[in-house]
Amino acid sequence: MKNKNSNPKIFITTNGCIRRAFDLARLKKYFTLNNCTLVKSPKKANYLILITCSVKQNKEQESLRLIKKYKKYSGELIVAGCLPDIAPAKFKAQFAGRYFTSKNLAAVDSLFPDFKIKLADVPRDPMFATSSPFKDPFKIRLAKKIKNLIQPTPPPSHAYLTIGVGCTGNCSYCSVHKSFEPFQSKPLKECCAEYQKLIDSGYRSFTIMSPDTGSYGIDMHSSLPELLDKFAEMNKGLDIKWYVIDLKPCWILKYKDEFIKHLQADRIHHLLVPIQSASPRLLRLMHRYDKIDNIAETLKEFKKIKPDLELRTHMMIGFPSETEQDFSTTLDFVASIPFNHADLLKYYDASGTKSSQMTDKVPDKVAIQRIRQAVKFLKAHDINYDCDDI
Ligand code: SF4
Repeated sequence: MKNKNSNPKIFITTNGCIRRAFDLARLKKYFTLNNCTLVKSPKKANYLILITCSVKQNKEQESLRLIKKYKKYSGELIVAGCLPDIAPAKFKAQFAGRYFTSKNLAAVDSLFPDFKIKLADVPRDPMFATSSPFKDPFKIRLAKKIKNLIQPTPPPSHAYLTIGVGCTGNCSYCSVHKSFEPFQSKPLKECCAEYQKLIDSGYRSFTIMSPDTGSYGIDMHSSLPELLDKFAEMNKGLDIKWYVIDLKPCWILKYKDEFIKHLQADRIHHLLVPIQSASPRLLRLMHRYDKIDNIAETLKEFKKIKPDLELRTHMMIGFPSETEQDFSTTLDFVASIPFNHADLLKYYDASGTKSSQMTDKVPDKVAIQRIRQAVKFLKAHDINYDCDDI
């Protein structure tokens, strides 16, 4: 069913996170502007575009399963997303066709050389609107479908504002940053223009994000506090809520006073600070900030200033050499703040990472047992959690 006609039918989908949802939105625009018809059924498509995700082991497995599934259709499957960059060997073992990646989305032009409109002509969508922040876009769509059967979907009220790309970190277990573009902050002026547009459109609730939100501005003599101050100036007198996510703990300490100012003004509603572990020894092995007592002190102070602040974190379970003591220290830390929500991630050897070379591995059985224990513990402490690994 390969079709080189001037009006190809495109089926495009993703199993990815909010960042891949941005890619999806942009590519949909790109194909539509190039006279393609977007179709909902893979059966009807000349081209199937699958934007993969490989951020976690289960996502990687799901991506590989979806490739297998979509290869069976008569249209040409083109794979995109992070899988080819993050797990190249597994990807190539499964797929020999054409692909492009999130790191270089513009490579899609070379796959469709006859298209008049190039990807550079289609601006990145600055926002992704939803009525339910912090849900997997894949799950949002599914929930919407079900909900629509019963009642109409409310208009979107929450917007995601991307303030940059890339990450300055070098975590020893991370392969995800291989799929990122080099770190680059979005110019202050551009962020403010997008924020103003969202305010003018009636949005009052925002996720302020990049893969490394705290590092905003370090490449252009600016900073996250400067950006937040500009935003605060623009939304004076309005009842707004900020969800600031993917803040490496070191930034919480560096910008403590600035965060306190916005907490006191009731602007910051939610902070996602991934701690991964509360064991300084493990944090050093992970190449992450290890002054865990300072982090605890600061987060507790934040909670004291704004008791209804939603604090969310990530906990990695089963990192090489993790002991029972390391594990329970992390649980106690999460409960002591207390966090409102923890995402539990089972460690796995991601391709090409430093931690995959470490020898003192925690057996899978033990890691799963610890996750079960963590779930029980979090429930007992009334802390919400997400976990795809059990
Ligand atoms: S902060 Fe660490 S885990 Fe997160 S994307 Fe950057 S390098 Fe990867």
